[in-house]
Amino acid sequence: MILSILGPQGSGKGTQAQLLVDRFGFSHIETGKLLREIAESDSVIANSIKETMNSGALVSDEVLSQVLESHLTNEVLARGVVFDGTPRNLAQYLLINNLLAKFGCKLDYVVYLGITDLESVKRISARRTCRICGRVYNLITHPAKNEGRCDCGGDLEQREDDVPESIQRRLSTYHKETSAVIEKAREDRILIEIDGSGPIETISENIIKNLRLE
Ligand code: AMP
Repeated sequence: MILSILGPQGSGKGTQAQLLVDRFGFSHIETGKLLREIAESDSVIANSIKETMNSGALVSDEVLSQVLESHLTNEVLARGVVFDGTPRNLAQYLLINNLLAKFGCKLDYVVYLGITDLESVKRISARRTCRICGRVYNLITHPAKNEGRCDCGGDLEQREDDVPESIQRRLSTYHKETSAVIEKAREDRILIEIDGSGPIETISENIIKNLRLE
């Protein structure tokens, strides 16, 4: 099964994707993480990607296409794939399906996690990530046992783009561009809408039930 989890910033798409990956062995393609890795590398495009990401805008479809292409292999697809945070606009929806078609696959489902903008800003402002292992905490809903420190011992930090100005820009990009993907998925009858405001476990069970994974 090939699926994409979408939702506004802070809707829990990363958490839900990881739960599916842990339980069912899917390959996890998280474009935000892959792009952050390139932004921190010494490649020639690192700086411009970092600037775009910090501003809250979307990285170009061309860069995204290269990132996706380099991660899609027969082995990755054989395990099933959870795309986390992609496609973010209509062009990417078509791009993903074109790339998948080369392997005889297609996007089977788009899972949409809905939360309000207010909830999104609240959650994102409280998000902290481990510098070492990348584990994600939330000061309100999922605090670390030791304040400011991950279970692995690493320091917790706020992502550079998790500041109010960038969050607002990302939310407005989301409403402008990603809502078209949701509509297209609805039209293609592959959309699964899930309320993202409840407890993590309830949302996960809801996704699993709707995908008929069990
Ligand atoms: P995320 O970790 O999903 O919140 O993504 C962080 C940032 O990475 C976004 O604000 C974009 O700048 C960039 N990004 C992630 N996924 C994509 C995508 N599919 N297309 C374009 N830019 C992306």
